[in-house]
Amino acid sequence: MSVNIILLGPPGAGKGTQAANLTQTRGLVQLSTGDMLREAQASGSEMGRRVAEVMAKGQLVTDDIVIGLIREKLAQGGSGFIFDGFPRTLAQADALTELLNDMGQSLDAVIELRVNDEVLVDRIVGRAEQARAAGQPVRADDNAESLKTRLMAYYKQTSPLIGYYHAKGMLKAVDGLKDIDAVAGDIAALLPLP
Ligand code: AMP
Repeated sequence: MSVNIILLGPPGAGKGTQAANLTQTRGLVQLSTGDMLREAQASGSEMGRRVAEVMAKGQLVTDDIVIGLIREKLAQGGSGFIFDGFPRTLAQADALTELLNDMGQSLDAVIELRVNDEVLVDRIVGRAEQARAAGQPVRADDNAESLKTRLMAYYKQTSPLIGYYHAKGMLKAVDGLKDIDAVAGDIAALLPLP
């Protein structure tokens, strides 16, 4: 059975890791606006250049840009989406409901990855060190200064979505402090059987 789900949580909570895992285990399609924006930057497109500075600082890019990216992906059709890092504002959440409605689809669950700030700093600094050690590019926003802004953006603009989806009866939470496999197991237990 195909499901459409959102993974919600602060930077470093493990959304990308768990989304990638669900593409393997459940054949879901990962839609990460962060990845799409980084691809736009790497391609040197006009939009990529416009958002580079905002992203490096750790601020959110405008709603119309990210909604446009998601609209384009959904226009290709399909079902069984994991939204990773989207929506991040209430306006984005409303837009997503509408886009899915237009396709005759709906959201099945919003899974919040619960973690605490100390762990996030460790994980993000760790992610940068790992990339450096492997000779891979380090994300421009994986540094202490941007992280502060990213966390602030999360608490101010994104965390209201927790109450929003809770009120809709769609919110489920898992303990994101457990190890990767345990979190994956807890998420799997929340989804209907395939
Ligand atoms: P992520 O890879 O999800 O951590 O996203 C990296 C950066 O891309 C964020 O700090 C924002 O600058 C931008 N970004 C990604 N997704 C969104 C979104 N849904 N709304 C606004 N900005 C976003």
